[in-house]
Amino acid sequence: KLDASLIRADFPILGRQVYSGVPLVYLDSAATSQKPNAVIDAMDRYYRTSNANIHRGIHVLAEEATGLYEAARKTIAGFIGARTPSELIFTRNTTESINLVAASWGRKNLKAGDVIILTEMEHHSNLVPWQMLAAELNLRLEYIPGTPEGLLDLSVYQQLLELSPRMVAFTQVSNVLGTINPAKEIIRMAHSVGAVTLVDGAQSVPHIPVNVMDLNVDFLAFSAHKMVGPTGIGALYGKEKLLESMPPYMGGGDMIKKVLLRSFVPNELPHKFEAGTPAIAEAIGFAEAATYLYSQGMENIAAHEHDIAEYALKKISQVDGVRIIGPGADQKGSVFSFTMAGIHPHDVSQILDRRGIAVRAGHHCAMPLHEKFKLPATTRASFYIYNSLEDVDTLVEGLAEVRKIFE
Ligand code: PMP
Repeated sequence: KLDASLIRADFPILGRQVYSGVPLVYLDSAATSQKPNAVIDAMDRYYRTSNANIHRGIHVLAEEATGLYEAARKTIAGFIGARTPSELIFTRNTTESINLVAASWGRKNLKAGDVIILTEMEHHSNLVPWQMLAAELNLRLEYIPGTPEGLLDLSVYQQLLELSPRMVAFTQVSNVLGTINPAKEIIRMAHSVGAVTLVDGAQSVPHIPVNVMDLNVDFLAFSAHKMVGPTGIGALYGKEKLLESMPPYMGGGDMIKKVLLRSFVPNELPHKFEAGTPAIAEAIGFAEAATYLYSQGMENIAAHEHDIAEYALKKISQVDGVRIIGPGADQKGSVFSFTMAGIHPHDVSQILDRRGIAVRAGHHCAMPLHEKFKLPATTRASFYIYNSLEDVDTLVEGLAEVRKIFE
């Protein structure tokens, strides 16, 4: 079983106080997670000892840097169960990974009238790239609706599949509702009509075991910064055959094998999709983050967050006037978006902040989902490996104070 108090000690920032003498209670990991010493030290060590540009140098530092960067790719590919490291492309984040697929796979394979299926619970980063492509190519976007409980309505999905979609792109875990969608089933159904699948793994890869071979997913997008790694780097997993068939996304150094004045020959995978000097230190930090999570055990992390979900759902909903959106603990990660009757989410967040509790208020980059629930904004508390049941208690005490102030 995972011991959050031991884990906390690995994260220096969690020891700090905010304002005078108020200890930090960090409940904003869905926006970005904190970083353990192992990640900070690995990046620091790289800059102190091995910093050089990769792939082209023949000196010791260049070889060390290249070795570390490619070893990082191998570690992260292994973490998600990819068949080979060349199926793992480094990008800036989930957003860039999805844009890469929309621009490269989409432009090559889609034509006017083709159908793309998304869901009503997507983050803007899995909506806007497809909307941009749809406007360019005259595609048709269809949506799997959400139910009032915050689940996907798979019977409507079944009907939508009769439109023979070319792509089904959906989030595995909602960053607002916390819903853990039945990804394997959604992918199986998509494949049965010949659609290609993309999973937004921004909120799943950090929190539950995700194995691309088991899911049989075609593309998986995720970000390092939400899984105890650095900002500035993310990944796109793609099945080798698909990636091989796709044109480069960006042009420049490193993504080419040969350049003439009027033409070029693209490089092999994965370099074909990595134009320019990449985020080398960040890749090293990313791998260290994956190693850290692996050593805790993804099953243990998921179980820990499930315990938090059960406890928090019970405790938070006991606060007068609180309404949590999203399903019950069995279908949910440890993300809680809620409203308090008569109190604006920004006021809730501000009062909690005075007590050192960091939560987020707004639409959480999911405006259509908030529209669906007829809410302009919610307050969101999101938990991770370093949070404990005591943090839930602290939040609930804070919410009781918010209530009192507004009475
Ligand atoms: N998808 C989901 C479900 C997310 O929660 C987020 C981050 N809030 C993203 C995509 C985008 O991630 P990034 O900003 O790292 O690209």
